[in-house]
Amino acid sequence: MNTSDLVKIFKALSDETRLKLLALLENGELCVCEIVSILKMSQPKVSFHLNILKDAGLVKMRKEGTRIFYSLDDSNLFKRFLILSVIENTKGKTFAFGSNQKEGGVIMEIKKDLLKLLFDFHGHKCWASALGLRAGLIALRELKTQRTGTRSLYCLIEVGHAHGAVCFADGVQVATGCSIGKGNLIKTLKGKLAFTLIDIKNWKEIRIAYNGKLKDKIANTAFMKKRAAGIPPTEIPDEEAMEAINIVLEAPEDEIFFISPVKDTNFEPPEEILGSIVCDICGEWVSMPYVRILGEKKVCIDCAGYTEGFER
Ligand SMILES: [Zn+2]
Ligand SMILES: [Zn+2]
Repeated sequence: MNTSDLVKIFKALSDETRLKLLALLENGELCVCEIVSILKMSQPKVSFHLNILKDAGLVKMRKEGTRIFYSLDDSNLFKRFLILSVIENTKGKTFAFGSNQKEGGVIMEIKKDLLKLLFDFHGHKCWASALGLRAGLIALRELKTQRTGTRSLYCLIEVGHAHGAVCFADGVQVATGCSIGKGNLIKTLKGKLAFTLIDIKNWKEIRIAYNGKLKDKIANTAFMKKRAAGIPPTEIPDEEAMEAINIVLEAPEDEIFFISPVKDTNFEPPEEILGSIVCDICGEWVSMPYVRILGEKKVCIDCAGYTEGFER
C-alpha cells in the first residue's frame, strides 16, 4: 500500500455518510436499492459515496443481472482494522436498534432479516417477541458483545409460563443466541418482561426490563383487540400484527426499558455434564445427574417413582 492509497482511504473515511455506509454493510452484502431505501437518500448520491469507498478499496462490488451489490472489503489487516474501528465507533447510541427516532428506521431495516428469522422461528408475528428481540439487541450492544453460538453468554429471563406476552422470550433467544436448547437461557419465573444477560468471559452483566409504557397504545391495536376476542395470532392479518410491532420498534428505548448494569447476580454457570446411561427399567437414555439408584438398579426419575427432578 503506497501513500496515495492511504490518502484515498482517509479521504473516503472523512465523510459521515460513508462511515454510515460502512457500518451498514457490517451486516452483510446489500444491493444499491436496499441501501437507498435504508438511508432514504437518492440513488445517485448513494452511488457517488459507494464509488469513493470502492476506489479506496474499502468496499467491493458484485453485479447480478441488473442489480449491483456492495460488501465490505477487509482483505488486508490495515483495512480490517479501520473498518472495525468505524463500526465500533458508529454503533453506540446512534446506530443502536431504534435508539433514537431519527436513526430508528435505519436500524429496523438493517435488522429486517433478524425480524424474519424471529417470526419464522416463533411461528407468528407479534409485538411481544419483537420487544424481546429489541431488548436482546440492546443488551448485546451494552455488553459490547455478539450473539453467542456457545455458552459464552447466559440469559436469566424473568418471564413465567402462563402470563401473556411470554413470546418476549423467543425474541431474546433469537437476538442473543441464548437458547433453551443450549442451556444458557434460564427462566427465573418472576412474570416480568425482563432479563439479565451475563457475559461469563468478561463477567459483565446487564439487566433490561420493560416498563409497560406502551400498554394502552398496544391495547388499542386491531391485533390486540382480536387477541382479546380469542383469535389466534396466526389468524390475524400481517398488517395488523405489524402495526403493534412497529409501536414496539419505534418507541425510544429509554422510555420503555429500564437498562441497568448489574453488579452481583451471584450467577454460577451450570457445569456441563456429558455422561449418560440407559435406564435399567425403561431402556431410555438418561443424563447422569438425573439417574437414580433403585436397589441394584440405575434408573430414570420416572422409573424411580420420583415426582420431580433436581440438579446438583
Ligand atoms: Zn408471539
Ligand atoms: Zn426409566
